[in-house]
Amino acid sequence: KNVLVKRLWLQETMASVSSSSLLNKAVRQQYMGLGQGGKCQVTYIWVDGTGEGLRNKTRTLDSEPTCIEEIPEWNFDGSSTYQAEGSNSDMYLIPVRMFRDPFTLDPNKLVLCEVLKYNRLPAETNHRHSCNQVMQQVKDHCLWFGMEQEYTLLGVDGHPFSWPSKGFPAPQGPYYCGVGANHAYGRDVVECHYKACLYAGIQICGTNAEVMPSQWEFQVGPCEGIEMGDHLWVARFLLHRVCEDFGVVATLDPKPITGNWNGAGCHTNVSTQQMREEEGLKYIELAIEKLGKKHKQHIEVYDPRGGKDNMRRLTGLHETSSINDFSAGVANRGASIRIPRQVGKDKRGYFEDRRPAANCDPYTVTMAIAQTCLLDPT
Ligand code: ADP
Ligand code: MN
Ligand code: MN
Ligand code: MN
Repeated sequence: KNVLVKRLWLQETMASVSSSSLLNKAVRQQYMGLGQGGKCQVTYIWVDGTGEGLRNKTRTLDSEPTCIEEIPEWNFDGSSTYQAEGSNSDMYLIPVRMFRDPFTLDPNKLVLCEVLKYNRLPAETNHRHSCNQVMQQVKDHCLWFGMEQEYTLLGVDGHPFSWPSKGFPAPQGPYYCGVGANHAYGRDVVECHYKACLYAGIQICGTNAEVMPSQWEFQVGPCEGIEMGDHLWVARFLLHRVCEDFGVVATLDPKPITGNWNGAGCHTNVSTQQMREEEGLKYIELAIEKLGKKHKQHIEVYDPRGGKDNMRRLTGLHETSSINDFSAGVANRGASIRIPRQVGKDKRGYFEDRRPAANCDPYTVTMAIAQTCLLDPT
């Protein structure tokens, strides 16, 4: 009977893992070790028309580019990415930031791109363009961000990774920063993603297991201005790509499992030069006051569906604030804005906006914060 149970379990596990992840990875090594005759593979990455999905395609350059200016513009078929307007389906890819490719290794590159339409205006979901304009306006403030990306691992069948196929795991409690096969589900993905980010040149600064089993977080930052969105989008690309190798899927849905299970956010930490200097706390308090006046407008840009996604997450339970109320407090994880305890003590540092959903666009989030805190009248 035991053998039968084990076989059934194995069958279920195999069904929840993608078949391409079961291809022989040792055979792959033979080809990955081949020389490439001085040529360079460059993978262009962009945000598609959903504002959440990432797309990529690869081309050969004759030599290794030494800076972003050496990577040529390219194009793609926008009618296949929910991006084309009418019969003009060609979209432009404008390289904006270059990273090392941790999958095919040096000298190959990953390059994040902005998308322009046939008339060379930014595509609807190209929020980098306007974000960059705001970041230019506030650049004297030396605005730093750090974002905490939470995500949940699923099988390709959409079921949370390694949860029992019927029923639920034991209630939340032992999983946050947990260790052991009964507490930490899928650590291989987390560790490989971390290494891939460091190799690529992402400003990743940490990682931890989250409150719900199979839920994890990595942190990127501090990054100045537009770099925040650039680094987080490419870190997300690396996450999806690493998951592909393991045959599992990472979802950024802000509330993947309803009920007594934590949702997933993208806490955004913020500081200006003034906030980081002595007695900076008064500038933090001023920024919070301004944020309080624009709560609704911020909620609208803190997920890709104008607040609808975040509504499932910001309930006032599970370490969140209610979506309808604005609140702030020192060390308060049930508030919209938290001032970390150390910052309260030192009277300088940064604050944390806990409202952005895991699937937010970091460009719209950082742009809204910069606009409200630094460009709005007092
Ligand atoms: P939490 O206690 O909220 O879980 P984490 O350690 O997960 O905090 O994340 C802290 C985040 O704050 C990181 O992304 C880090 O880069 C960022 N951070 C640290 N110092 C600053 C600062 N001065 N300005 C902006 N962001 C900062
Ligand atoms: Mn965190
Ligand atoms: Mn967290
Ligand atoms: Mn946090």
